[in-house]
Amino acid sequence: MEVFIEPIGRLINEFSKLPGVGKKSAQRYAYKIISMTDEEAEQFASAIRNVKQKVHYCKICGNFTENDICDICARRDRRTICVVKEPKDVIALEKLHEYKGVYHVLHGVINPIEGVGPNDIRIRELLARVNEGGVEEVILATNPDVEGDATAMYIAKLLKPLGIKCTRLSRGIPVGSEIEYTDDVTLSRAFLERKEV
Ligand SMILES: [Zn+2]
Repeated sequence: MEVFIEPIGRLINEFSKLPGVGKKSAQRYAYKIISMTDEEAEQFASAIRNVKQKVHYCKICGNFTENDICDICARRDRRTICVVKEPKDVIALEKLHEYKGVYHVLHGVINPIEGVGPNDIRIRELLARVNEGGVEEVILATNPDVEGDATAMYIAKLLKPLGIKCTRLSRGIPVGSEIEYTDDVTLSRAFLERKEV
């Protein structure tokens, strides 16, 4: 990095923190910013500040929202809760236009190797929602990998004694893959053909 003057090196360093951005891309992005007008660069910087100021977690489901409660929690059928690992999984499922219920974002999955236990993700909050009553089905839509499966089974064990129907997306999604990257047709089928666990 020392070949760059300090302000440019600093910007390259910031871009290289983004997922999938290597040194070459970070340099390209930095030079693009330098070539922008002051106004364009300010818009870019202000979009970053804006997202940090305005976006936070929905008090109910943990998805991103600008308000206290997200639009999905405010408007949709709360009898079904679809449990996902991350906010981007909500986007993947919403794109299908199949689901009319609400979500619960765990913000992680149980992963003993990385020291993530049940208390480190939003399982307690899910139980609290279920205990409020009115929930009939919980769809466990964590990724079909070791951690996702373990997390789904852990939650199912907690919920089934409460008389809640627990379902898991069908095996149409390749094992080890991520919901986010599953094509719409496959994901749609896995969702509709979900199986009780
Ligand atoms: Zn919400």
